[in-house]
Amino acid sequence: MSALVVERHFSPEDARRDPYPALPFTVPPGTRGVTVQQSVTPGTATVDLGYADQFGVRGWSGGARREFTVTTSDATPGYTPGVFRPGEHQVLLGLYHVPPGGAQVTVRVELHPEGDLRWVRGDLHAHTFHSDAKGSPAQLAAAARDRGLAFVAVADHNTVSHHPHLGDALLLPAQEVTTYHGHFVAHGPGPQLEFRITDARGIRAALDAAARARLLTVLAHPVPTCPSCDWTWGLEDQFDALEVWNGPWLALNWIAREKWLGLLDRGVRLPAVGGSDRHQPDAWPDLGDPLVQVGSPTTWIKAAGTHRNDLYAGILAGRTCVSEAPGGPLIDLALQGDHLHYDVSGEPGGTLCVYAGREVICRVPFGGPLRGKLALARHPAPYYRAEVTALAPPEQARLARERWPQHVRPQDVAERVRALSGAVWP
Ligand SMILES: [Zn+2]
Repeated sequence: MSALVVERHFSPEDARRDPYPALPFTVPPGTRGVTVQQSVTPGTATVDLGYADQFGVRGWSGGARREFTVTTSDATPGYTPGVFRPGEHQVLLGLYHVPPGGAQVTVRVELHPEGDLRWVRGDLHAHTFHSDAKGSPAQLAAAARDRGLAFVAVADHNTVSHHPHLGDALLLPAQEVTTYHGHFVAHGPGPQLEFRITDARGIRAALDAAARARLLTVLAHPVPTCPSCDWTWGLEDQFDALEVWNGPWLALNWIAREKWLGLLDRGVRLPAVGGSDRHQPDAWPDLGDPLVQVGSPTTWIKAAGTHRNDLYAGILAGRTCVSEAPGGPLIDLALQGDHLHYDVSGEPGGTLCVYAGREVICRVPFGGPLRGKLALARHPAPYYRAEVTALAPPEQARLARERWPQHVRPQDVAERVRALSGAVWP
C-alpha cells in the first residue's frame, strides 16, 4: 500500500478566508479503497474531516473521527462506499475552531489496491413486471441461479420502482433510460433519471445526473432491432461502456460490434459488455431457447469481489468478456510484458480469432482449453481483442433474415460469435 502524508498550518485568518480547505490526492487505476488519518495540534483546535471524489462529497465525520476508511463495498459510518474512479480526489477539512496560535494538521492518505481478481459471471440487462416483462424479481433471480449466474442487473424501463423490491442479493439495481431514439442502462441504486428526452442536450443532462449519483452508464443495443432501439443521439464516447451484444448474436449484434470497433479505432477506450435483455417471457420466442434466456449472453467481469461496486470497477477497467452462455467460452486476454496472452476456457468448440486492431493475427480451431501468447512487436496495434466464432445454425440465420431483411446480409449470419473479449490497450 502506498501512503501520502500532508502537513498544513492554518491561522485564524486562514479559517476566516476559507473555512473548508481541501487536500487533493491522486487515485490511480486499480484502487479499491482509501484510509485517511488526521492529527491536529494543539488539542484545543477543532478541524473537521471528510472526503470527496470527482462528483462531490462522499462522507463527512466533522470532529467526531480522526480516521476513516472507504472501500468499494464498505465504509466507516458517515461515508459512502463506491467505485474509485481514477483522478483527483480530496480530503476535506473544516476549520471549525483555530486558536490564536494556529492549528497544525497532518493528514495521512493510504490507498488500497484491488488485490486478487477473479472472473465473475452474470447478466447486465434484464426486465421484470416493474416495466414490460411478466415475471417478478424473485422469478428472475431463480432463473439466474439455475443458470449459475452470480448477478443480474434489473434494468426496468424508465423506473426505479423495483429497487426496493429486489430482495435477492443476486439482483443488482439498474434502470434502462428508454427514449424514442435509443436506450441506455444506468447501473446502481436510484435516482430516477429523466427519459423524456428530445435532443442531445437532454442526453448530456441525464448523463450528468447519472455521474452525480455515481451510476455506471452503458449504451444499450445500438442496433435497429426495433424502431426506437437504435441509438441516434451521438455522444457514444460519453458512456462508461457499450452493450456490444444484446440477446441472441444473430439479432443484429454485428452492427453493435462494428460501432464499438469504430469507436476503438478513434481511440475511445470503451469497455464491452453484454446483456440478455430477458423480458420473461421471451422477446423473440421464435428464435427459441436456449438463446433467449437470462445469461444469454453472459457478461464475465474480472473483479476484486462480488459487490456491485467491485463489478462496476471491473467494467470501468475494461476487464470483461461476453459469451453466449454461462458455460462460456471465457476468453481471458491480457498484456504481459511484450506479449499478448490468451486463455480460453469453458465450453469448447469453434475458432479463436485474435485481432490487432482490425487485423486477424491468429486463427486457431479448438476443441478444448486453449492457451498461447503472441509477440506484440510483430503486430503493433492501438488495441487488441479476440473472438470465438462458430457456424451459425441455418434455421436461426433464416429467422434473422426474415425478421430484419433490410439489415441482414448472408455474410452477417454465416457465423455466430460464441464469445467476445473486451479490448486491451498496450
Ligand atoms: Zn432497450
